[in-house]
Amino acid sequence: MKLGTKCIQTGWQPKNGDPRVLPIYQSTTFKFDTVDYVGELFDLKHSDHFYTRLSNPTLECVENKISALEGGVGALLTSAGMSATFIAVMNILEAGDHMISTSCIYGGTYNLFSVTLPKMGVEVTFIDQDAPEEEIAAAFKPNTKLVFGETIANPALSVLDIEKMARLAHSHDCPLIIDNTFPTPILCRPFEWGADIVVHATTKYMDGHALAIGGVIVDSGNFDWNSGRKFANITDKDPSYHGLSYTEAFGKAAYIVKARAQLMRDLGCQAAPMNGFLLNVGLETLHLRMKQHSSNALQLAEFFEAHPKVEWVNYPGLKNDKYYALSQKYLPDGQSGVISIGVKGGREGAVRFMEKVKLAALVVHVADARTSVLHPASETHRQLSDKQLTECGISPEMVRVSVGIEDIEDIIADFEQALD
Ligand SMILES: *Cc1c(COP(=O)(O)O)cnc(C)c1O
Repeated sequence: MKLGTKCIQTGWQPKNGDPRVLPIYQSTTFKFDTVDYVGELFDLKHSDHFYTRLSNPTLECVENKISALEGGVGALLTSAGMSATFIAVMNILEAGDHMISTSCIYGGTYNLFSVTLPKMGVEVTFIDQDAPEEEIAAAFKPNTKLVFGETIANPALSVLDIEKMARLAHSHDCPLIIDNTFPTPILCRPFEWGADIVVHATTKYMDGHALAIGGVIVDSGNFDWNSGRKFANITDKDPSYHGLSYTEAFGKAAYIVKARAQLMRDLGCQAAPMNGFLLNVGLETLHLRMKQHSSNALQLAEFFEAHPKVEWVNYPGLKNDKYYALSQKYLPDGQSGVISIGVKGGREGAVRFMEKVKLAALVVHVADARTSVLHPASETHRQLSDKQLTECGISPEMVRVSVGIEDIEDIIADFEQALD
């Protein structure tokens, strides 16, 4: 199946007389006939659902759809994008380990890596993703266990050279985890470029209508946890699962089964069945929406580029953009719907501009059907120091524009009157 068909046809497979549309299994638990069978469920010997913190039929269908879109062996839905990232890294790491992340990442993820993980005994080194390979290679240590980056960074809009990062990670026997929230699998599939694990804030384009917070982890099944470095967490016997080894028991799906059976069990940040249902409705139009977001964004970026009151424009689809070459390699079908601009007049100019837009709304969100604006320095990235802001690619005059799927003429007219 092509991607657009997968958006609609994968996941829920109704049998004779079943509902046409994915049903919401709004139930915490499931009924069984014998005690022995339930015991075997706890031993992971059957794949039935028995408690919604671990799995649920509605969520499973959506997980299978997203896994099919990314080309993975399995997926796990979580209550938020942040819990997806947290579980994705902690499924590999423990106190005493080290990881490498690019510094151009989502503000929440930056806080998680720079403040919260160190409290748990995990050391994180931030690197400049555009640095030469030798420079990045120097950041690896004997206890480095993974590398993390974002395909299109929110909000810096830098495009990651995924192949380069995968080469660096793999030559040091480490997996590469990619946050693919902005492109979605419609515009980029990181597994095709060597990434091992993908995470998403489904909150954004996958949902697409700003209905429900959510996240997902997808496992490519390609990383060999037995080669090179020691990934004892995944290969050795798990005392909290009476001595089961995930790699021995589940082969290529070891990582994603462990994320569910161990960390989702212990942390409980499961997605709600209702939210899975809403996400599935969003996914059915993802291929159409990503095309429209991308074409609207390119036209709006070209308008900004030509406007005298705009100091600079970042959009990886613009020919003059620093990341144009990388975007043509990794995102040839569209560069997604987020633009950042520097409005003349510094921080004050940016704030005045934002308060003048009418169709575009001032919301703390990005990547849904409606056009919106946000001022990272005083909103999402408020906790960061000026030095950290610069490392994340954020300046005081930056306005992040999330281009919706309205008619582009109306969108441009709104920004034109605001700039005037
Ligand atoms: C929003 C976002 C997240 C966090 O997702 P939540 O659902 O808000 O927890 C992570 N990564 C990126 C790129 C995001 O845009």
